[in-house]
Amino acid sequence: MLRLRVTAAAETAIRSGHPWVFSESLREQNREGRLGELAAIYDRKDRFLAIGLFDPGSPLRVRVLHAGNPVAIDAAWWRERLRQAIARRDGLFDEQTTGYRWLNGESDGWPGLVLDRYDTTLVLKLYTAAWLPRLAEVVDLIRSARPGSCRQQQPSSTTATNRESRGASYERDTGSGLVLRLSRNIEATARIKFNLSDGQWLAGEGRDSRISFLESGLSFEADVVRGQKTGFFLDQRENRRTVESLAQDHDVLNAFSFTGGFSVYAARGGARSVTDLDISQYALAGSKRNFDLNRHLSSIASCPHEMIHADAFEWMEQAPKRGFDFVILDPPSLAKRESERSRAIQAYRKLASGGIRRLNRGGILAAASCSAHVSAEEFFTAVRDVAKQLRREFADLRTTGQGTDHPATFPEAHYLKCIYLRF
Ligand code: SAH
Repeated sequence: MLRLRVTAAAETAIRSGHPWVFSESLREQNREGRLGELAAIYDRKDRFLAIGLFDPGSPLRVRVLHAGNPVAIDAAWWRERLRQAIARRDGLFDEQTTGYRWLNGESDGWPGLVLDRYDTTLVLKLYTAAWLPRLAEVVDLIRSARPGSCRQQQPSSTTATNRESRGASYERDTGSGLVLRLSRNIEATARIKFNLSDGQWLAGEGRDSRISFLESGLSFEADVVRGQKTGFFLDQRENRRTVESLAQDHDVLNAFSFTGGFSVYAARGGARSVTDLDISQYALAGSKRNFDLNRHLSSIASCPHEMIHADAFEWMEQAPKRGFDFVILDPPSLAKRESERSRAIQAYRKLASGGIRRLNRGGILAAASCSAHVSAEEFFTAVRDVAKQLRREFADLRTTGQGTDHPATFPEAHYLKCIYLRF
């Protein structure tokens, strides 16, 4: 077995439950390690510390699967780990919400691996190449845990019988599938060494890539093959619900709107109008479709929906031409690495300032950050500071994080934060 020893600092981090071991923390290695193999980590006194997935090509050399007493990582162990993550979601969602996260990486014990459910379609997103040699095993496990959900079509006579006896539910199952998504940094390895590509169907080949699902009773589409992340920002669900509850009679600006998630909720919540602002025409087209999917609701049918195709950073810098009662700012991650942190905070301040300058009296700002390198306190302080500098009186309504299906068990996993201020 691949055996490693790490620095004292890394030993402490592992003992405290941190799941990452960086290459510079390695002190000893009994041999060269292969991609995706299990590596056992021992302390200076030769006591077992942890076992994890090894990636010789990444600075994040080991992603810990288990720390504490030694365990045998066999098929039963993997099954139990998946069962635990699924059980953790028991009762979180009713049938009005069919899009949510099943496996949230490290914090669910599946480091670098995300599994999202959109109705009967599952999207498996990998952030580390260490899973690639194990893909077949993982896919089997997922499919056995969810009978009927991502089964491959079987053109057999039993299938025909099922079709007759199960009617509509079978029709739904035939629309099921499993899509593989890859983070950009592992795409080349996946293609060259494993003949796998981003957006590839692992089950249910040839399906429409736009999958409809429900969130809080609203219909949305996720493009599971081409969309950002796994096709939808499921992590903002709870914030979308908050926005709905605050939107009544407001003119709402949804900056960095993507496919209009916040806007559809605001419209259902009785907004007077909603305006989406995004740099991507593709995202705005998705927003229009998401509105259309919900037009049977009178509050949505009657809510004027405007779309602005622009760079939100530039648009926010301009002198405001019109005011809003509710401004939502949800930019993409602005600090992908630690060195970008202070520039990101500057950008958040500028955005907040532009948003506040557009607010009518009594207006609300909801500002979000998904940069793991910017802490919640840093972000909240920056937004409050800007509000004070603009000499506008405000009340802190609330601060929030990511949804309950996105558990976070170590500091870097708490990436999403949002602050609501009423002016
Ligand atoms: N609030 C959305 C998620 C936002 S994701 C939701 O709840 O679904 C970030 C969005 O910002 C993406 O749609 C991306 O196209 C957009 N974006 C990135 N850079 C931008 C820019 N400079 N100006 C406007 N939009 C931008």
